[in-house]
Amino acid sequence: MRIDIISAVPELMSSAFGHSILKRAIKNQLVEVNLINLRDYATSKQRQIDDYAFGGGAGMVLMIEPIAACINDLKSKNSYDEVIYMSPDGELLSQKLCNHFSLLKNLIILCGHYKGVDERVRQHLVTREVSIGDYVLSGGELAAAVLSDAVIRLLPGVLNDETSALSDSFQDNLLAPPVYTRPAEFNSWEVPPILLSGHTANIDKWRHEQSLERTRARRPDLLK
Ligand code: SAH
Repeated sequence: MRIDIISAVPELMSSAFGHSILKRAIKNQLVEVNLINLRDYATSKQRQIDDYAFGGGAGMVLMIEPIAACINDLKSKNSYDEVIYMSPDGELLSQKLCNHFSLLKNLIILCGHYKGVDERVRQHLVTREVSIGDYVLSGGELAAAVLSDAVIRLLPGVLNDETSALSDSFQDNLLAPPVYTRPAEFNSWEVPPILLSGHTANIDKWRHEQSLERTRARRPDLLK
């Protein structure tokens, strides 16, 4: 998979891809992530990428020309399954949507900034709009990192234990069961004895029951 992220502030994302699981996935060539600076596609001398909103009002708007130039340049070199715009009024990101994206080959993710992007970008250049929740961020960069992280960890070979992603919350519409590690006792708080029993079948059964119980208590909507 290849993910090209277009942004006015790409530096905001470099740390997200420079550590731990995502860093390893990139190093092992399971995914290619390119952080693209929109300013490199500015056409004016001042390298301007934003301008005042027509009709007035506070806040700058990202201009269509640099965005179009950037997307066209990328498209002239690769074919893309989706051009995703991160936006608070987009489709709410879910594990189901991440599963879908993880099956695709090449993605462009466009990050807005300030007031957002010129509406014509959304009408003509973008194929999909995704929100990470009902709150407003300063820019799409952290949202793009969230989306990319959630998708990349689903790619085959990214997680050490191949089945690990399948036992996470929301796969199968269940929340994950509680997990424990050493020591078996701390402050006289004990780990459930079943987990120390070595009996795999009973442990699997216990975990499933815990998943169900937790989902019923916290997210009964998932069980419907
Ligand atoms: N004026 C816009 C918000 C702009 S916030 C509005 O009221 O809808 C600036 C940028 O941050 C947006 O263009 C978008 O790319 C990003 N952003 C903000 N909140 C987001 C969210 N919840 N999910 C995804 N992207 C978001």
